[in-house]
Amino acid sequence: MVVKLQQKLLFKANMESLSSGQGIQVVRPSEEHTFLLDEEALQRLLLREDVRDRPVVLVSVAGAYRKGKSFLLDFFLRYLDRTYNNGEGGGEWLGREDEALKGFSWRGGSDRHTTGIHLWSQPFKASLSNGEKVVVLLMDTQGTFDSNSTVKDNATVFALSTMLSSVQIYNLSQNIEEDDLQHLQLFMEYGRVAKDEIGGKPFQRLQFLVRDWSYPYDHPYGAVGGEQLLKKRLTVREGQHEELQRVRQDIARCFEDVTCFLMPYPGTKVSTDPQFSGKLSDIDGEFKSCLKKLVPMLLAPENLVTKKIGGQTVKARDLLNYFKSYVEVFNS
Ligand code: GDP
Ligand code: MG
Repeated sequence: MVVKLQQKLLFKANMESLSSGQGIQVVRPSEEHTFLLDEEALQRLLLREDVRDRPVVLVSVAGAYRKGKSFLLDFFLRYLDRTYNNGEGGGEWLGREDEALKGFSWRGGSDRHTTGIHLWSQPFKASLSNGEKVVVLLMDTQGTFDSNSTVKDNATVFALSTMLSSVQIYNLSQNIEEDDLQHLQLFMEYGRVAKDEIGGKPFQRLQFLVRDWSYPYDHPYGAVGGEQLLKKRLTVREGQHEELQRVRQDIARCFEDVTCFLMPYPGTKVSTDPQFSGKLSDIDGEFKSCLKKLVPMLLAPENLVTKKIGGQTVKARDLLNYFKSYVEVFNS
């Protein structure tokens, strides 16, 4: 009886938890092109008694606006909630066909909807395969490469999110272009400085994610096609411009692991219908089947990557200090 009641309460608490969460803006660009940190909000999240001493897994999504970053993150939330809060795991995490998608706000239209850096207000408590207890945090970013931000603001948001995260997902539309690699170069300068100090690779995982990939006959959707495309794009060739060679070498020097995944077009409802609510029934089957592969590759217990800075594992309470000192560096 008591156990049953406890289970019921636990279930209720978890049910409430995802819908009562929200994206909180922890870093905000100001008119003067500096960045403001919401230290109180960060403290509430990172110094919570039950998470402060856990190593952090911080998954960030960065790239141009209106390319489906927040939309994707909401599927991450679904997976995390069903896997780590409700203890179900398995294949059913994608949800019911008629369920509207909630979480970080996403929408059509051409306005920017997110600026700076947002974190999901709820941490997810997970255990790695070796039993180590960690906390998973999700980061949504905006400010990269759109017309409203200056180049410096863009590079800063990208650099900050890369330096703070253990997994940076570089969300790209249609292909990996030379320009996309050049943008990486802008912030890897910081990585190079960090590397000189400690002698290891400064960042953990870089995941290229190509949306609306339309050449599945050249390279198939998913991780295998992604590997093929990445290899093609990152190979340093003789006769290549020196600058392009340097970008490629820097990526290899800065990240422990670089991967790529090719996502198909999600269908016209997702891309153009203003009434689209995120229902699975409105999303193309191929896209959903790719989501089922991609999300566990990033968030299943055996694939979680903890944050390391200077060779040391970063705990939630340490992350607060890194936020403070990195924002300070960029503002000075
Ligand atoms: P963000 O600005 O990058 O965070 O983009 P949003 O997640 O807010 O999504 C912007 C618009 O793109 C919404 O109308 C989504 O329905 C749509 N969208 C989401 N994912 C995709 C995708 O993979 N391809 C296309 N073409 N549109 C998408
Ligand atoms: Mg967004």
